[in-house]
Amino acid sequence: MITFVIQIIYIMSISDNLLKLRQKIPSHVKLIAVSKTQSIQVIRDVYQAGQTHFGENKVQELLSKIPQLPDDIHWHFIGHLQRNKVKQIVPYVHLIHSLDSVRLFEEVGKEASNIQRIVPCLLQFHIATEETKFGFTSEEAHDFLKSSSFQRNTHVQLVGVMGMASFTTDTQKIRTEFQNLSYIFNRIKADFFKQEPSFKEISMGMSNDYEIAIEEGSTMLRLGTIVFGEHTNT
Ligand SMILES: *Cc1c(COP(=O)(O)O)cnc(C)c1O
Repeated sequence: MITFVIQIIYIMSISDNLLKLRQKIPSHVKLIAVSKTQSIQVIRDVYQAGQTHFGENKVQELLSKIPQLPDDIHWHFIGHLQRNKVKQIVPYVHLIHSLDSVRLFEEVGKEASNIQRIVPCLLQFHIATEETKFGFTSEEAHDFLKSSSFQRNTHVQLVGVMGMASFTTDTQKIRTEFQNLSYIFNRIKADFFKQEPSFKEISMGMSNDYEIAIEEGSTMLRLGTIVFGEHTNT
């Protein structure tokens, strides 16, 4: 009985938390709940509170969660993706945020074509000063989009860009990096996707910087900590 009551209070606090968060997010901005390291039960609670888009950053973890959770969840892949694992996620993934190299792009194209799926993806840009973050530079992306590799492609649908700001408390630095990503998006849109309304997404903003990201034009927030709290029960 006690645990039941605690469970009810817990579920109420999840929905309450989600509701308050949604009130801070404009309606044109999509919330992706980053469920990495969270248990099936907690993800189900967040799903029951109305959240249907979830993000994972590891292939094995994603594959083990999918069959245990409702079919109508849209799964976003947000982490660095190795080419030898592309085949495993291509049938299930709603959007790959982390297309960070030409070779990865070609692999996704090949596997998507094998199962006759068109897979929506975002081009990841390296906007932070940290060495550890993956992604294209603006120049590399322009070269790639002009190349025959991209022009020939039929099974990857590029729908926008993604980036991660530096991990810092310097909010001006974060803002400048997000502005840079918005600028890159606008240039690519003008140069390569003018006639394609589906190229419209800017995936930027995590728990510590999502308010700045919204101000700088984000259309997709990837939020973990602020949705699920600090606890991680694997
Ligand atoms: C973990 C992760 C997030 C969410 O981070 P929080 O700070 O918990 O909101 C967003 N994007 C990527 C790529 C991540 O790996």
